[in-house]
Amino acid sequence: MCGNVNENSAEAISAQVADAATQPTATTHKLLDDLVLANHILFNNGVVDAFGHVSVRHDVRPDRFLLARNMAPDNGTIDDIVEFNLDGEPVNANGHRVYLERFIHSEIYRARSDVMAVVHSHSHAIVPLSVAKDFPLRPLFHMAGFIGTAAPVFEIRDAGGNGTDLLISNQMLGRALSGLFKSSAIVLMRGHGSTVVAETLQKVVYRAVYAEINARYQMEANKLGPITYLTEEEARSCVTSIEGQIQRPWDLWTEQARMKALAKRERGV
Ligand code: MN
Repeated sequence: MCGNVNENSAEAISAQVADAATQPTATTHKLLDDLVLANHILFNNGVVDAFGHVSVRHDVRPDRFLLARNMAPDNGTIDDIVEFNLDGEPVNANGHRVYLERFIHSEIYRARSDVMAVVHSHSHAIVPLSVAKDFPLRPLFHMAGFIGTAAPVFEIRDAGGNGTDLLISNQMLGRALSGLFKSSAIVLMRGHGSTVVAETLQKVVYRAVYAEINARYQMEANKLGPITYLTEEEARSCVTSIEGQIQRPWDLWTEQARMKALAKRERGV
């Protein structure tokens, strides 16, 4: 594993690491463009703020993935996308800082060959459910069947002891997290946030957006009394029917992101 250098308290959630001694692999402009869009869409929908990240597995080299360099997701362009290997080492960061928590992505791609995209965030309605001992994230409406019966919660103390900073900052912690996606496409991380996986970039964005909405609805509905959740069978059926239609929100969110980018350019931002 590459060593972290030049870390200090102000930049503790990023690291400057040497590039692996290998060449980046060409990918399509479309994949890079879609990844930039995914960053912007997740910001526009309140899933990421200055923190959080989204990655996609490389379309030519499955042992590589693409992830922005250390930055607020809404500020990124194609030039900010970095290629990484499955040890979490950047290939072409060229001295730019990278996310400390890139091991979330690298270890999930290593463990799960079917996963093509990953979102990690601290979205606001999810965090309370990550610490509530008897109130797991459960799907209560048809858009959120991917949650399964209940999202598992990753307890970092089990892997890292009682004194961690809760960040997935090495391969060992990433590996421990990656083992929890068997029954759900989303895993909550106690006192931290969540990580969502899917077979496509468009789908992982959709899931991250609707997981956040479902969490908000759960807390609202809970004020009204006991909640009726989807059954396991309903959750499965909803995944089949709804997730066949995710091009619709992706097209809408893409349009919104492009309009915002255009407005920014016109203002000279
Ligand atoms: Mn995090």
